[in-house]
Amino acid sequence: MSESLTNKINRRKTKKINVGNVEVGGDAKITVQSMTNTLTTDIDSTIAQVESLVAEGADIVRISCPDEGSTQALKKIVDQVSVPIVADIHFHYKRAIEAAESGAACLRINPGNIGPHKIIEIINSAKQNNISMRVGINAGSIDTTILEKYNEPCSDALVESAIKNIQLLEDNNFDNFKISVKASDVFTTIESYEKLANLCNYPFHVGLTEAGTYLAGSIKSSISIGNLLAKGIGDTIRVSLTADPVEEIKVGYEILKSLDLGSRGVRIVSCPSCARQAFPVIETVKLLEKRLSHIKEPLTVSVIGCVVNGPGEALKSEIGVTGGGKGNSMIYLSGVADHKIANPEIVDHVVNLVEKKLNSKND
Ligand code: SF4
Repeated sequence: MSESLTNKINRRKTKKINVGNVEVGGDAKITVQSMTNTLTTDIDSTIAQVESLVAEGADIVRISCPDEGSTQALKKIVDQVSVPIVADIHFHYKRAIEAAESGAACLRINPGNIGPHKIIEIINSAKQNNISMRVGINAGSIDTTILEKYNEPCSDALVESAIKNIQLLEDNNFDNFKISVKASDVFTTIESYEKLANLCNYPFHVGLTEAGTYLAGSIKSSISIGNLLAKGIGDTIRVSLTADPVEEIKVGYEILKSLDLGSRGVRIVSCPSCARQAFPVIETVKLLEKRLSHIKEPLTVSVIGCVVNGPGEALKSEIGVTGGGKGNSMIYLSGVADHKIANPEIVDHVVNLVEKKLNSKND
């Protein structure tokens, strides 16, 4: 993305809240989160999954609390993980209170399935435990009175539900919350967040719900989340995929990286390859991606099959590879042609260069 367009992303001014030690909203970085899919009562598996999400860069992790056993397990989980935990609550307000007492950093409630008077009890518990909340409005479980009014879970229905709940929380002197208005289609999701952005300054948890499988869901999420982020809307994101939650974190960071809104790990700029390629671009990039996946520091590497686009992309990369010579490729360092390397050695060589570059940065 060009610098001029990047500069046009003005983040919506939002109130800053805390999810444990992680700030959400205001000038805080846009955080990436996911949710475990292990049985919460299976404490060891849940802890292991939380930590695998953290290893991939998760800033916040959500855990379902469908029953009392889960809220009890939550206490042990919270004590042993290195990231703030959001307790996901549906139907039973008591689970929210138990989760707050078990050390959840935030309570995600779905007002569509918890009545207003019960929500007041949850607010009181959040206040007592000094934790935040997320009001999670979902098109699939919208308040029945609002649904009857609009006949369908359209953006106006989602926004009205959100405003009603914001009012309820504010009337109870509680403003330590973020909000989400998710639908499973791109247009309703975008429209709902846009409308709500004009009506309040609470931070937004942005995502598309029930997005689908890895490929389809990643594309739908990228379009909707990316569209909103490009307009400055969104303080924390969750990509919902019918896939390993670790993939959600990876896709979340790719969305942020592609908008220059957050950087984590090596960003590989690569061409699709064609008959002009002087080395096997696809295989090379696949290997590089794997070999560089442990790196957390931001760095751009361009891997381009020939001189058509290689030198130009290398200008914007810290390390660049351009195919072209007889069995050799040109290595660019900070945009400048530096030396040649035999094609079979590209992967090992680039991995070495990246590691060296990062070591020199850290010295
Ligand atoms: S950069 Fe060269 S090899 Fe890559 S797609 Fe373009 S023309 Fe083909």
